[in-house]
Amino acid sequence: MTPTGATGPRVLLRQLREVMAGDGSPQQRLDTLTRIIAANMVAEVCSIYLMRPGEVLELSATHGLKPEAVHTTRLRVGEGIVGDVAAHARPLALRDAQKHPNFAYRPETGEDMFHSMLSVPVVRSGTVIGVLAVQNRTLREYHEEEAEALQTVAMVLAELVISADLVRLSDLTKANGNVTLPQRIEGLPLSDGLADGIVVLHEPPVEVHTLIAEDPAAETERLNAALEALARAIDAMFDDDDLSPGSEHYEILETYRMFSQDRGWLAKIREGIDSGLTADAAVQRVQLETHTRMSGMANAYLRERLHDLEDLSNRLLRLLAGKSLGVTPEEMPDNAVVVARSLGPADLLDYNRSKLRAVLLEEGSATEHVAVIARALNIPMVGMIDNALQRFPAGDTVIVDGRQGTVYLRPGDDAYQAYQENLAARDRLRLEYAALRDKPAVTTDGTPVSLQMNAGLLFDLPHMDEAGVDGIGLFRTELQFMVQETFPDVATQASIYSRVLDAAGTRPVVFRTLDIGGDKVLPYLDRPAAREENPAMGWRALRLGLDRPALLRNQLRALLQAAGGRSLRVMFPMVSDVAEFLAARKLLDRELERMRERGQAVPRDLRVGAMLEVPSLVWQLEKLLPHVGFVSIGSNDLMQFFYAVDRSNPVVAARYDMLSPAFLSLIGRIIEQCRAHAVPVGLCGEMAGRPLEAMCLIGLGLRNLSMPATAVGPVKMMVRSLNGAVLAGYLKGLLDSSEPSVRDKLRNFAQDHGFVI
Ligand code: PEP
Ligand code: MG
Repeated sequence: MTPTGATGPRVLLRQLREVMAGDGSPQQRLDTLTRIIAANMVAEVCSIYLMRPGEVLELSATHGLKPEAVHTTRLRVGEGIVGDVAAHARPLALRDAQKHPNFAYRPETGEDMFHSMLSVPVVRSGTVIGVLAVQNRTLREYHEEEAEALQTVAMVLAELVISADLVRLSDLTKANGNVTLPQRIEGLPLSDGLADGIVVLHEPPVEVHTLIAEDPAAETERLNAALEALARAIDAMFDDDDLSPGSEHYEILETYRMFSQDRGWLAKIREGIDSGLTADAAVQRVQLETHTRMSGMANAYLRERLHDLEDLSNRLLRLLAGKSLGVTPEEMPDNAVVVARSLGPADLLDYNRSKLRAVLLEEGSATEHVAVIARALNIPMVGMIDNALQRFPAGDTVIVDGRQGTVYLRPGDDAYQAYQENLAARDRLRLEYAALRDKPAVTTDGTPVSLQMNAGLLFDLPHMDEAGVDGIGLFRTELQFMVQETFPDVATQASIYSRVLDAAGTRPVVFRTLDIGGDKVLPYLDRPAAREENPAMGWRALRLGLDRPALLRNQLRALLQAAGGRSLRVMFPMVSDVAEFLAARKLLDRELERMRERGQAVPRDLRVGAMLEVPSLVWQLEKLLPHVGFVSIGSNDLMQFFYAVDRSNPVVAARYDMLSPAFLSLIGRIIEQCRAHAVPVGLCGEMAGRPLEAMCLIGLGLRNLSMPATAVGPVKMMVRSLNGAVLAGYLKGLLDSSEPSVRDKLRNFAQDHGFVI
């Protein structure tokens, strides 16, 4: 049987259009629709359930069930098959619905003789406004095409329901406390700071109102024109040397280009137009299907790619609607709070910094690079906000508290007042931190701790003096590469590094060589054609540098030149094996030799270190330590690889605690071995910037911590309140604990002893 077997899709859509445009009350039209759909789908039953305030679905029209059940039968969202479809916003095709664990029998409907059931959600503006279901007596398998056909019908139905006022979106959202009332929304704190501003959606969705076409040929032409414009836009993004808002990073662009030429995708859209939909509706239908498939996908990589495809559909819809792509500078208010599903580091850097107040994400985790950059830029960021794109309407006002991970939507007077007080309290605290600026970071029992700062962008540099740091413990050189449009040549790199050293004066700066790969992508770098399933564990950092020695040598040459007669500290990221460190060191020595031969000034004092981010290196320390000038623990990646937990996957990123006995023992072991070899060791992951974690690291014996500039004040305050010996004694016993985390114990201990965390 074909999907719309009786009459074919175009006839069905024509019939639907006639009903929508015809006379009769909305109820009569719904009734007619159920008849037409049932006939077309060769089903004995067709029912329409509409959403009522309070998350209840009401049987609003039926062909085939008992008429007296209409406006009587009600199911809560999540209850029964219909409630299940609404709860998950995805279709359900069941050979025998009565065997489904969620089946809820409603005797008044007389549905006991119907076995198979196909139900699809009716969605408008991202909100489920109803469910459309067909049923058959026989144990029937519904084909995927039938589900697609019913989804198309559901799109048309959604338009009728909304335009005839059968469901008011505002009533639904109001019932969820969601429309004009102020709301407090909790998420995951990713970057500290307080801000208020106007919501700007990163990729605003487009509403399609005209669904059924008069003239398919004209729709095909519109589609072709929009596809051409899309191809041009993608090409322009590739070439764009003006990093304008909305430009995407390379991998996504490549995926866009691939999908935009993807025959299957285009064929499905064209099929939609052939069946009588407008070009816009055809794109939206395919988008809906994609979304449905995506939500059920277990493979994160494929899910990501399908997300890309959704984004591409959105772009195409914008073009069809005659709107520009991305957020234009004019659409960007002076106090924008950008709301996105997720953002890559490059997306964030694309926004005009002077207008960006805060970022809210549906996804996001604390050690993912976009959060690292947000902290470097001092932009409050909150992640893991369910349905953020739907919950924050563009143009609404919000207050973002990046420390608590709290967002106030349409804040009332109370929230505003609390915000002002909070701002004032922060100003006071900032003054307290500023007062500590020139005071030493020494514990109460006299142990000095060197507090350094992480940097990577030139506008980080003034923070050195503002925060009063001892140096830069991690300069992420790749960030400089990410804000360029082409590979910076040796001279350009040397001038950047030289500016960093100038700003630091006599204070040390640890330059980390390029850590490209993972979620840090350079648009202009040729990468192997094969896509990486796990880029964080893939061709990145030193692996890439050793495979592209010219690239690494150029960077090392630039660093050596920038230092001239000054001191220089260089470290290699993601060292997994001693041999890799030695190979990198050899490249550096060759560059040094070359300079000497040419009579150029070489650094007065050169120290070369390894980042310890891959657990394998812990078992090679005996071999490694004689060759290195220092070790820097990259706790973000070390944690990721130690627990096999993707730092940018919000579902698992917070599952394990850095303050677990296992991870702390690992760090303790590294510190001990470095100490035994008299090799300086520090830590430069995000962990160092959190007072409680930093306190624990000091207790384990670390004396060198590098952190975001904004963390220096709170960490220094903690150090100056800390008795290191008392803490070290307490920690010894704690690491034997068999609990997954010692966070609470440490916090209580700190509070009991007056350590300021
Ligand atoms: C780390 O992994 O801890 C680190 C400092 O490097 P990055 O966050 O840049 O990967
Ligand atoms: Mg790292």
